[in-house]
Amino acid sequence: MNPIPSNPTVCKLSSATGTMLHRLARLVIEAECTTCGRICDENGEGISTVRLALAHSGATGHVVILNGTTDLPCTE
Ligand SMILES: [Zn+2]
Repeated sequence: MNPIPSNPTVCKLSSATGTMLHRLARLVIEAECTTCGRICDENGEGISTVRLALAHSGATGHVVILNGTTDLPCTE
């Protein structure tokens, strides 16, 4: 029923690490309002920080600078 074929090339990384490839990457966002300073989300999730920044700009008209990275959590 699925007309879209799965893409077999995406996951062809080294097979040596096996299940390591399926960990979820995390998103880390720092948000800083040019008027108010740092905007922190206590949940610490990158996406919610972005939403907080959007809400802040929408409510105040301030400019919020976002600085973000994605990586894999180091859980050994
Ligand atoms: Zn502000």
